[in-house]
Amino acid sequence: MCDCVFCKIVKGEIPGKKIYEDEDFLVFLNINPEAEMHYLAIPKIHFALLCEMDEVKASLIGKLLKLIGEKSTEWGLERGFRLQLNQKGEKGNCAHQEVMHLHFHILSGDEL
Ligand code: AMP
Repeated sequence: MCDCVFCKIVKGEIPGKKIYEDEDFLVFLNINPEAEMHYLAIPKIHFALLCEMDEVKASLIGKLLKLIGEKSTEWGLERGFRLQLNQKGEKGNCAHQEVMHLHFHILSGDEL
């Protein structure tokens, strides 16, 4: 059984404030925002790291980036935004990836 918190949000097993959903992706509010607007954008399939990507996953992540660009104004990001991806490494976790389900932080609002 998958113990991943983001998979549980995808499955509706725990609540998430969703701002966008389709068959491949979910975008929802960060429970602990670090900016006026702080969303998390995820592929629904579970994997944690860029180094795990095959061509299918790479294509999916390309589509997710395209989606973020297309929807940015609709999502209130018209002042601009920052995308952040924290990744654990083979020998450490200096970027502090806490959730091992690949996700982009989308930060916007007040001057970052
Ligand atoms: P990271 O350090 O890149 O793995 O970031 C994980 C992010 O997930 C953190 O900013 C958390 O605040 C956020 N987070 C953890 N659990 C939840 C949840 N149930 N709903 C929304 N955001 C969450």
